[in-house]
Amino acid sequence: MQELIDHSVRSPSAATAPGALATLRRVFGYDAFRGQQQAIVEHVTGGGDALVLMPTGGGKSLCYQIPALLREGTGLVVSPLIALMQDQVEALRQVGVRAAYLNSTLDAETARQVERDLLDGTLDLLYVAPERLLTPRFLSLLDRSPIALFAIDEAHCVSQWGHDFRPEYRELAVLHERWPEVPRIALTATADPPTRREIAERLALEDAQCFLSSFDRPNIRYSVAHKDNPRRQLVDFLASHPGESGIVYCLSRRKVEETAEFLAGRGIAALPYHAGLPAEVRAQNQRRFLREDGIVMCATIAFGMGIDKPDVRFVAHMDLPKSIEGYYQETGRAGRDGEPAEAWMGYGLGDVVLLRQMIEQGEASEERKRLERHKLDQLLGYCESAQCRRQALLAAFGERYEAGASANGTCGNCDNCLQPVRTWDATEPARKALSCVYRTGQRFGAGHLIDVLRGADTEKVRQFRHNELSTYGIGADLDANAWRSVFRQLVVAGLLEVDAEGHGSLRLGNAARPVLRGEREVHLREEPARKPGRGVSGERRSESTLHVDAGDRVLFDALRAWRGQLAREQNVPAYVIFHDRTLRDIAQLRPASVSELARVGGIGGSKLGRYGEAVLDVVREQG
Ligand code: ADP
Ligand code: ZN
Repeated sequence: MQELIDHSVRSPSAATAPGALATLRRVFGYDAFRGQQQAIVEHVTGGGDALVLMPTGGGKSLCYQIPALLREGTGLVVSPLIALMQDQVEALRQVGVRAAYLNSTLDAETARQVERDLLDGTLDLLYVAPERLLTPRFLSLLDRSPIALFAIDEAHCVSQWGHDFRPEYRELAVLHERWPEVPRIALTATADPPTRREIAERLALEDAQCFLSSFDRPNIRYSVAHKDNPRRQLVDFLASHPGESGIVYCLSRRKVEETAEFLAGRGIAALPYHAGLPAEVRAQNQRRFLREDGIVMCATIAFGMGIDKPDVRFVAHMDLPKSIEGYYQETGRAGRDGEPAEAWMGYGLGDVVLLRQMIEQGEASEERKRLERHKLDQLLGYCESAQCRRQALLAAFGERYEAGASANGTCGNCDNCLQPVRTWDATEPARKALSCVYRTGQRFGAGHLIDVLRGADTEKVRQFRHNELSTYGIGADLDANAWRSVFRQLVVAGLLEVDAEGHGSLRLGNAARPVLRGEREVHLREEPARKPGRGVSGERRSESTLHVDAGDRVLFDALRAWRGQLAREQNVPAYVIFHDRTLRDIAQLRPASVSELARVGGIGGSKLGRYGEAVLDVVREQG
């Protein structure tokens, strides 16, 4: 597998592929290719196989859409998500591309028509679910149809270790055996090296050219907070995103529902989404999220794959995600349009206990459990790190973060960079905590241990006569919050371990002895008094994230209202018509003619013809 690594965000478009660039401009209305798009488009158009690793929002779709337009025949797109095909196809039709989808939601007559169009070669792109593609009937249909290429979207679904595993994906290698001359392009936003290798192997893409992009998402601001009052913290966070779309991830179905209810009770347009809801409710809520402005989706990780809504402005994690890769994928759903977006996570010792318990009590093999434990530890290390978040995240994908905004190579757009973390010498408190764990028999959780250390007079303390221990009351100098922070960090550092049974009881870890013997010092991070939201920098703003100049606001809002009306009439998501960013640029430019309007990014020939006059009318009305 050859690899091309590229860290540039935008590459100058060479004159070597006038067809590709002309298509980008004419059809999609964009000026220039991003990153490696052009190299990929040229490679695939020329008949080469490709494995494309690009972060969410990087612009993967154009990498197969443009070659499909440039090559003879139909581009077949394998996509695991039936529910989203319709919107993808609709977005293509809006720009004048002949696109269709085939899945179980179509009636027989429509499906037959699509098949006829495929045979006639009158389709540019056809989206199919893998299970349908692999039927003997469909394969034989393909034998008789002109095929431009096969695009395998969400290619990480082939990986058995990921949470999106789809057994049918493993059979897609058949495409290569049957049509060796048709180029294949596999795409994913999951970049860890084992998954990458598995994709190449399972899809018979060992000889494909691998295009690895930088996974940095510079427009996303990352922050991690210690959870002390999760609901208040969430409300504070949402206050900095009024009227914006976002996702709030929770670990359990119950918590999803409770959170959605709680937010709805506070006048926030929140909806629940998890695998336990009836299919119609799920479909309906997903639809509303995609189509309406400003919906907050409270969801388990069952929600999100393939959601290509460009204007998700924030992703909040109310519980620890399962791994860094999972976290990066989930947060990556924010800010696909490149505008500022925010990823906020709250976590506490309770999360660690719960996740440990889920791993240990799960049915998985010992090998798998070992892997999951490792992933959890890696994630905890991330949470407690004082390092630049971006640097730490990218390091998890084997990428070194270089292009720093500030002199010391940090990003300037994460909590740790905006407000550097201080550490303190916690050797004494650590020894007190460890010895308290030891003296109480290594079978109590942090709550009780803190009571003992602080000399609280509780029933449990009396019942176990812990008030008679030498460690009773020796930690009254720190408050309960400070102790929680100490215990949490001791767990992350391996000085304490959470019991495998998952009751949350703590026992000494291997690293504890030298500390107890006074041979090792312990330095912990100071709990910063941070507000969630953009308040990490101290101030709280109540304006939304997409930056629209005050003077353009009225026109921007009018354009949005016009777009909303049109989207409802056509029954499509608003962003399929125009992105917020396009509307903002129109509001700024105030074009007086169609040719001026054509200069705005995201308006290709088809949209110009369809909506140009209507947009100019709105601009004129707002004077
Ligand atoms: P991915 O599938 O990698 O998450 P998409 O293909 O959905 O990303 O693209 C993300 C966003 O970027 C889309 O809104 C798309 O229209 C936009 N985009 C992609 N390529 C370009 C480009 N060359 N110039 C401007 N915008 C682009
Ligand atoms: Zn940073």
